[in-house]
Amino acid sequence: MDTYHNSLDLVRDRSPERPVALVRPDAAAVAAHWFQDKFKGDVFYAVKANPSPWVIETLVKAGVTSFDVASMAEIELVRSVAPQARLAFMHPVKSRAAIAAAYHKHGVKTFALDCQEELEKILESTGGADDLNLIVRMAVQTEGAAYTLSGKFGVSIDQAPALLLAARQATTAMMGVSFHVGSQCMRPTAYQAAMSQVSRALVRAGVLADVVDVGGGFPSVYPGMVPPDMSEYVDAIHRGFGEMMVHETTELWCEPGRALVAESSSVLCKVDLRKGDALYLNDGSYGSLFDATHSKWPFPVKLVREGEASADLKPFRFYGPTCDSIDHMPGPFWLPADIQEGDYIEIGMMGAYGVAMSTGFNGYGEHDTAIVGDPPMASLYGLARRSIPTRRAEEEDARKVVRFSRPKGKAGVRRRRK
Ligand SMILES: *Cc1c(COP(=O)(O)O)cnc(C)c1O
Repeated sequence: MDTYHNSLDLVRDRSPERPVALVRPDAAAVAAHWFQDKFKGDVFYAVKANPSPWVIETLVKAGVTSFDVASMAEIELVRSVAPQARLAFMHPVKSRAAIAAAYHKHGVKTFALDCQEELEKILESTGGADDLNLIVRMAVQTEGAAYTLSGKFGVSIDQAPALLLAARQATTAMMGVSFHVGSQCMRPTAYQAAMSQVSRALVRAGVLADVVDVGGGFPSVYPGMVPPDMSEYVDAIHRGFGEMMVHETTELWCEPGRALVAESSSVLCKVDLRKGDALYLNDGSYGSLFDATHSKWPFPVKLVREGEASADLKPFRFYGPTCDSIDHMPGPFWLPADIQEGDYIEIGMMGAYGVAMSTGFNGYGEHDTAIVGDPPMASLYGLARRSIPTRRAEEEDARKVVRFSRPKGKAGVRRRRK
């Protein structure tokens, strides 16, 4: 991968025709260190948020050795980069072939389940193994997440006791509980509320859990979605854990996806056409802009142009390159009024569920990847010039056209990190 000081440096050098994922491995490393320092338990990276090999490599180097995987492809990917990693197969519905291959070929011992049928599948497909860590996924009632993740999976709190008991009796290794409060969870107390619901089910079942896995859901920071300090999340979890009926050696796990990688990538797109306030880009909802389309998230943007740009900022909407009319990102994205065909735009905070969502639909979706050394556009870990993107700051930032500068010594991110 080539390394550039920033997006303008790359544009000058390559005038890229395809979208470019601009990656900042240091930003993922900083987030990984933060979680390992502050979270009093084991940190599993949820691979689906960004399965790029550089992410896995960066996290392993930063000390993350546990991974939440959901498919054979994810298992093979992590194994190819980190043969020693500890893998937890946390998809509550797996094929028998996948369970068997995960256990027999890849040494996976930890499996999630949310019903009796899946428990039987796991036991049968592993030949009645007695060293399984069985994690019962529970559906919890919580508020405050941008994406709910309890709709599809999880045994209800009412029906959990029987399943908890069955899982407890099925293994001599660890029996655990897990849940997911929903992605981009804006309320730290959602974790504590979920833990108290789970605790009640455990008490009713009359079993103790060896693992309490609080799942993912830790937020990142986007325009209009500025979460409380990340330390409030781990504090709420530690309080919730303290209130649970567990034994002294019960392990606490978490499975962050978004929070570890959101800051670590942006995407550089090209404007292929301007029609009034509509910009037609070479990346869109079938590429890395899924959330900008389907959740209408107004990601932070900046114009990447050598030379002057209008100081007047205007709200724009984006269209992607495919012929589908769903390929539309309403924004609004604030950019200089004189933006035009041939300009480049850097879209920030795309490291989670961005590049990972890219498809090849309609012949688009191919992109390049390059490393950049400047800080992310926003940060919950103190990496950005400002950590909170307000509308005002956004506008001011967009007004500042990035100017070319030669890299001076080590890249910015590393120096900014104390
Ligand atoms: C998607 C997912 C995660 C990661 O969620 P984030 O909101 O990105 O932190 C963790 N665990 C499970 C089981 C998931 O499905």
